[in-house]
Amino acid sequence: QAKSQEKAGYFLFNQELREKLEQQKMISKYLHTALERKEFVLHYQPQINAISGEMIGMEALIRWNHPEKGLIGPGTFIAAVEEAGLMTQLTDWVLREVCSQLRCWREEGLALLRTSINISNSCFYNRNLIEDLFAVLDQYQLDTEVLEFEITESTALLEEHFPLLQQMRDCGIKVSIDDFGTKYSSLNYLKHFPVNKIKIDRTFISGIGISTIDETIIKSIVFVASQLNYDLIAEGVETAEQADFLIKHHCPNIQGFYFFKPLPADEIRNFMI
Ligand code: C2E
Ligand code: MG
Ligand code: MG
Ligand code: MG
Repeated sequence: QAKSQEKAGYFLFNQELREKLEQQKMISKYLHTALERKEFVLHYQPQINAISGEMIGMEALIRWNHPEKGLIGPGTFIAAVEEAGLMTQLTDWVLREVCSQLRCWREEGLALLRTSINISNSCFYNRNLIEDLFAVLDQYQLDTEVLEFEITESTALLEEHFPLLQQMRDCGIKVSIDDFGTKYSSLNYLKHFPVNKIKIDRTFISGIGISTIDETIIKSIVFVASQLNYDLIAEGVETAEQADFLIKHHCPNIQGFYFFKPLPADEIRNFMI
């Protein structure tokens, strides 16, 4: 009995894995074409100061508008992009798209909000990252202050990236650590990071009201961030209870479904002034 269940489980796992691999193959095969055909779109998720209700920034999040399958989230294809060696190309597209959008909004007379872009580890191996960035900013006549780069802890931790991070900071580009607290829990390394901002990961936020451990971790992150002068934002806030907790514990900057889901550019426009 147990044995056959084990076998069935193994079979299921195998099938799932096979489907996943097939999907990955399909994705990497069409990625080039997708880039050429401009099938990618960006959605923008507002970041809110929960005390004032003001929108303080937004994050650009990529989606693939597949001709048959419709809108596909990045969770399904980002790994394939990495594997296909297309991440630099994709990030370049994201950067250009964001800048062109910001430029449009500015021409409409809207006040620009700082927009963050996710920069994956592999992009840091592009030695011209900063030159390329400035070329794009120049083309759209935008200042560095309109952008923020989100990197993960594993990127931030690599000492070989420090010079580039330092250079970014020197040119006024904000850099934040995404998914903070999920990978390396030692707070000691924070003192070495040439970054400005911490994004508390959703896994802790979802524990608010449920797990005192998560609540304690959040309070500790808030304390450390304020002592070390890091800006702070909480990700994945879905409920009023979570928002209230964060306000009460001095983390009023919030990004999450409770306020806004990521929205297409023309919908975000309605919330800008
Ligand atoms: P991330 O950078 O941590 O982005 C936040 C993710 O959490 C987004 O998922 C967002 O839709 C989701 N989210 C925001 N608020 C809530 C909430 O209240 N509840 C829940 N359950 N989820 C929430 P998304 O758009 O699917 O992106 C997933 C990940 O894909 C991103 O995580 C980021 O690591 C990556 N990604 C997205 N766009 C890009 C991109 O342009 N370049 C790169 N390299 N990675 C990207
Ligand atoms: Mg992010
Ligand atoms: Mg995150
Ligand atoms: Mg995440």
